[in-house]
Amino acid sequence: MIDLRSMTRDELTRYLVDSGFEKYRASQVYNWLTKGATDFSEMTNLPERLRRFLREHTYLATARIVRRQVSKIDGTVKYLMQLYDGEYIESVLMRYHHGLSICISAQVGCKMGCTFCATGKSGYARDLTTSEMLAQIMSASDDCGERIANVVLMGMGEPFDNYENVMRFLSLLPDTVGIGMRHITISTCGIVPRIYEFADRMLQCGLSVSLHAPHDEQRSMTMPINRRYPIGELMQACRYYTDKTGRRITFEYALIDGVNDSDESARALGRLVQGMLCHINLIPVNTVTGARYQKSTTERRTAFCHRLSEMGVNATVRRTLGADIDASCGQLKRNFEKGDV
Ligand code: SAH
Ligand code: SF4
Repeated sequence: MIDLRSMTRDELTRYLVDSGFEKYRASQVYNWLTKGATDFSEMTNLPERLRRFLREHTYLATARIVRRQVSKIDGTVKYLMQLYDGEYIESVLMRYHHGLSICISAQVGCKMGCTFCATGKSGYARDLTTSEMLAQIMSASDDCGERIANVVLMGMGEPFDNYENVMRFLSLLPDTVGIGMRHITISTCGIVPRIYEFADRMLQCGLSVSLHAPHDEQRSMTMPINRRYPIGELMQACRYYTDKTGRRITFEYALIDGVNDSDESARALGRLVQGMLCHINLIPVNTVTGARYQKSTTERRTAFCHRLSEMGVNATVRRTLGADIDASCGQLKRNFEKGDV
């Protein structure tokens, strides 16, 4: 069976023409795909022969919304979506003054095993197809009835561990969903060779790197990927990215009480990134069931941020959205599978 939504317009045209259909039929089918059709019966202007052909040889990937949690504080919506094989993923829709942003998943689970992350604790099942990444946006947009302006690949999974499908997703997004590259951000835990490859592509989309600790010993304890690609190698790749693309890089740093939030950690972090084209996003760690980490106090967070600013490093404490709905990805799925929601 062919995954129709993962095809580019040109690939679809070639496929249908080679199968004996007129070229303009491909445009009709493509228009239905961009409208988010979930069943061939919706494609009412196609002849029955073509609809039957599509039904027999292809399929439309969907991400069906099975649970929805809405934050009473800020309207953030967290979706649990089910894929064709019964697997569950999460997507989060956030409202900012510049429009709606969606945080989507790249894998069912994750292999990276970060100790503070709910997804990391649930293990890995499989990669998402390009079409399943697109389907998350279409389902959420359909559900909220509004245009989604920005996409971040910061949901479940490691985008650079599903590199080819993610790159195809980036190339399809402008055409199928009308979201330009400048409105997309990818977040990685630091798979170094992929950062080089990504930099060489010179894409317009943003890159975010989850750093979370300034020393190897500390980082290896919470992020096992650091044993493979230690901080020195990671920073070298990040500098290559900013030099090559001229784009700013964002470092994510979740502040964990008594683990990585000391003044010494702030100074070490500052030294690590000093002079780099970057921004540091300080996030209060989200307490995950079964993990012993607690958020830093507000005073520590402010002092940490202040120390970085003093060193000339661009840093902000990020506003937490959806605090009342466990908006950090991986938690809704875990609770759902335990039967709590
Ligand atoms: N795998 C990618 C993208 C998905 S995780 C990555 O690691 O970057 C998205 C972001 O959420 C990452 O910055 C990750 O470090 C962060 N994160 C995961 N669990 C968290 C938690 N409990 N509290 C705060 N941030 C968390
Ligand atoms: Fe995977 Fe990112 Fe979670 Fe680490 S933080 S386990 S890389 S999803």
